[in-house]
Amino acid sequence: MDESQFKNLADEAPFELSPVSPNMLSGNKVIQFRCHKDVGCWNACCANIDITLTPYDILRLKNRLEMSSGEFLKAYTVPYEMDQDGMPGVKFRPVDGGTACQFMRPEGCAVYEDRPTACRYYPVALLSMRNQEEFVDRTSYALVEEKHCLGHKEPRSLTIDEYRQEQGVDVYDEKGRGWRQMVLKRKSAGPGIGKPPEISNQLFFMASYDVDRFRAFVASDSFNRTYDVPVEVMSVLLTDDEALIEFGYNFLKHVLFNEKFLEERDGAYEERMERLKARAEVMKAEYLANRDKLEEEKYSDTPRAGDCACGSKD
Ligand code: SF4
Ligand code: SF4
Repeated sequence: MDESQFKNLADEAPFELSPVSPNMLSGNKVIQFRCHKDVGCWNACCANIDITLTPYDILRLKNRLEMSSGEFLKAYTVPYEMDQDGMPGVKFRPVDGGTACQFMRPEGCAVYEDRPTACRYYPVALLSMRNQEEFVDRTSYALVEEKHCLGHKEPRSLTIDEYRQEQGVDVYDEKGRGWRQMVLKRKSAGPGIGKPPEISNQLFFMASYDVDRFRAFVASDSFNRTYDVPVEVMSVLLTDDEALIEFGYNFLKHVLFNEKFLEERDGAYEERMERLKARAEVMKAEYLANRDKLEEEKYSDTPRAGDCACGSKD
């Protein structure tokens, strides 16, 4: 097929063709690209965003902005579901009533040194894959060529690995590897493990994105009555955000996939069962009370002997 035929295909396509090149590329693939302030499309990519955030992205940004993770999540993100089982993800929240990033400024990105992984990668996309039988994820890349991005026409060539290093993305990849592997594992586990209960999605959200709340959870009496975390490890977790999110990835694997990571204290299982039993009793009592109330309401609406709409009593 020659180029003109391809052009016809693109013109006739019912939907806009994906800007992501279908080729899987390795790190030593040479690309042509440069982004700089004098390029004609300056800020075009930040004016219409769809950016998924990783736990490490959130950590960097909330620390830069001197906010708690909860405050950051509320102000700058929107939740979404990463799969059909409701695996929680978060994306950047654009400006009110618009599509632009809240950090976009005429002179460029207001959080440049701490910009998220996706912003660093662009126009390269990271593809992580994992076969169900494999214990490692494979990484490759794809090139995103959007019409508005003129950086592809700039006369500079470099390999994807060089570009990643220039953008500081190798550090972000390293810090996010444990989380990526866990997400892939959950996705590739498929329907076999069934839809996870809501509580595990809440745990996933907290340990992945809401690091300050997760710290309070790890420091809580109930956590420490259940898990035996050595004092020296706990003191690091209470002060070091990066160690805490790393701990969070492993904790989630422990809880979600039964990959033993933490020692449970003697009697913790029995205590948990007791707590669940007590909760089940409360839920049962609530259900019964609610059912009785509904029954009462039902019968109070049902016309009874003697109730007569027309007033006649015969
Ligand atoms: S964080 Fe910065 S680079 Fe990323 S979309 Fe926002 S303004 Fe653009
Ligand atoms: S060259 Fe591409 S990445 Fe750079 S500002 Fe333009 S659209 Fe954004």
